Amino acid sequence: MNNTIKPNLFGMDMQELKDVVKQHGFPTFTAKQMVDWLYKKRCNTIDEMTNLSLKVREQLKENYVLEKHAPITSQTSVDGTKKYLFQVDDTNYIESVYIPDRDRATLCISSQKGCKMGCKFCVTGKQGFKGHLTTAEIVNQVFMIPESLNLTNIVYMGMGEPFDNLEAVVKSINILTSEWGVAMSPRRITVSTVGIIPGIREFMERTECHLAVSLHAPYGDTRMSIMPMQKPYPHTEIIRLLKKYDWSGQRRLSFEYIVFKGLNDDEQSIRKLVDILKHLRCRVNLIRFHSSEGVALEGVDDKRMIEIRDYLDAEGIICTIRASRGIDIMAACGLLAGKKKEDNC
Ligand code: SF4
Repeated sequence: MNNTIKPNLFGMDMQELKDVVKQHGFPTFTAKQMVDWLYKKRCNTIDEMTNLSLKVREQLKENYVLEKHAPITSQTSVDGTKKYLFQVDDTNYIESVYIPDRDRATLCISSQKGCKMGCKFCVTGKQGFKGHLTTAEIVNQVFMIPESLNLTNIVYMGMGEPFDNLEAVVKSINILTSEWGVAMSPRRITVSTVGIIPGIREFMERTECHLAVSLHAPYGDTRMSIMPMQKPYPHTEIIRLLKKYDWSGQRRLSFEYIVFKGLNDDEQSIRKLVDILKHLRCRVNLIRFHSSEGVALEGVDDKRMIEIRDYLDAEGIICTIRASRGIDIMAACGLLAGKKKEDNC
């Protein structure tokens, strides 16, 4: 949330801070000092940057703000998952989901206010698009939850399509993974996309993070019936592109596959899935579908999930069934609504 016209220092990368320093004629080392204060020492005000001269701090305050925002509410699931609600402007809210799991602590973050991709199974998609998040608003989710310092993994799988907001997303990854920033390993960050092809290309060139593609169906017409983005970016084209990259190293490619009863869970679909992913080093995450109001799709039982997993495994495709977390607080995949509730803090 930024009600002022002054630019926010939080969310700027090293180059932007160098530009600030140059513009105001500050000593060149000031950029390094500022970046340290912002992302390593995690200061909350410009006044806290005590190794900057008083004059520099005063000039910074005249021209910039340092704004970060704590979540306004949180809900905790019986399984320990926590959903945080952030207010990003006068009328819009976004959600982030903290998922503790043995030695891992993952934060699922949002990249947009709402989403324009229109996936038929998704609550966020049904709300429509309200705008992009800035880099500051994306990184703010990581910095401002109480568990921030314990995080081991970050997934861009919350509200929005990350590659529809590519510049802000790549910049946020830069802040999270650079030595001058949070210095998190890019192997601990996964970005999920419906398959925006130019976005995949840019992401592959400009970051080293893992990629997850929402596939959800092996046939074009079935995929089209639940994901309108199949039209501009057919899954066959996405897979053709992905086959051009080298996945033999540590960088991981996964496909998300929500299993819907009677739509993509039959023998023929699963055989086709194996067929289209052949010769591509990847894994498949099977996801249970959680019904939501107004969605005429149904999930399958555990038995069928296990049968599909075992079939894929037997065909040499590494496959996991993603544990559903936070269902009771609407924090599971596809259920994020970014709605304010008065009674949930
Ligand atoms: Fe957007 Fe993701 Fe929902 Fe599709 S599943 S509508 S891309 S938020």
